Amino acid sequence: MRENDFLAWITAQTPAHPRVAVGIGDDMGVVRPGGGAGEAGGEGVAGVLLKIDQCLDRVHYDLRRHSAAEAGRKAVNRCLSDCAGMACVPAAVMVAVTLPRNGEGSGEAFAKDLFLACRDAAAAFDCPLVGGDTATWDGPLAITVAAMGEMPGGTGGKGAAPVLRSGARAGDTLFVSGRLGGSILGRHLTFEPRIRLARALAEALGTGDGGGLHALMDVSDGLAQDMPRLCAASGVGAEVYAGRLPIHPDAERLAGQDGMPAGLHALADGEDYELLMAVDPEAVPELIGVAEHGAGRGVGLTAIGTVTAGGGLALVDERGGRHGWPRAGWEHRSAG
Ligand SMILES: [Mg+2]
Repeated sequence: MRENDFLAWITAQTPAHPRVAVGIGDDMGVVRPGGGAGEAGGEGVAGVLLKIDQCLDRVHYDLRRHSAAEAGRKAVNRCLSDCAGMACVPAAVMVAVTLPRNGEGSGEAFAKDLFLACRDAAAAFDCPLVGGDTATWDGPLAITVAAMGEMPGGTGGKGAAPVLRSGARAGDTLFVSGRLGGSILGRHLTFEPRIRLARALAEALGTGDGGGLHALMDVSDGLAQDMPRLCAASGVGAEVYAGRLPIHPDAERLAGQDGMPAGLHALADGEDYELLMAVDPEAVPELIGVAEHGAGRGVGLTAIGTVTAGGGLALVDERGGRHGWPRAGWEHRSAG
């Protein structure tokens, strides 16, 4: 079963609950402590944000080539990237590791290096590691990271509501941070979660009702897969201009090696851990301010397209020709 199909099945088996403000299907779940209606954060959803993520040897890293520090850092940062995808700040993480008895990833020194890397990756965002679990087995290393996120400044302030995938509206401008593609050449291990950028955008543009940052998610599986998710959650279509995609030099390098167009690498490779967002056109000046003078400096924000009322997703070439959306992208076969 493909991951999207399995997630759809799970969602159908998970009934609504008064405590759940945002259930399965966004970057993080949002839970109202106490189960009450919840105080609106900036006239939007409010609550505690939760995320859990797995990071497996030979799937997300390869211990024949990568160190404990690289694996641990990636495991935590993948989870923190989803915090960025909601524009929240990580309040705490927990890490469960299943350590192999033998081979790569076994031994006390490895386990200690792994723990320290996880602790330090979270500490880079002033986020404490508050617990976890360890077990040993005959299989490969598995690292599971759970994060709790919160909206800074309590409730009611500008940018105090988490930004969901479901808020994009027709006419919004689509932006992506950074450059895409070719992360397999190393960036999938060394990326920085865009938490500071997401917070800066949330505060400058505003979130929730009346805010200019309408929808947000992190690009973990590639734009080819993640753009349809944002559109589906929002019930909208999109036109993306192929010539405007910010192509990473690593995508060009890979294209030189395998002959695949660099633009296709940018769309389909995945593990970019950049931000995809739908922005009210009236808030674009504030976004440019963040891009040029704030947390976006050195990262970059590129307008790649427009949200449409319907009509599905289209890739538009430089001559205005419309093409079907590329279906390629990284889809984990096993869900979870
Ligand atoms: Mg995500």
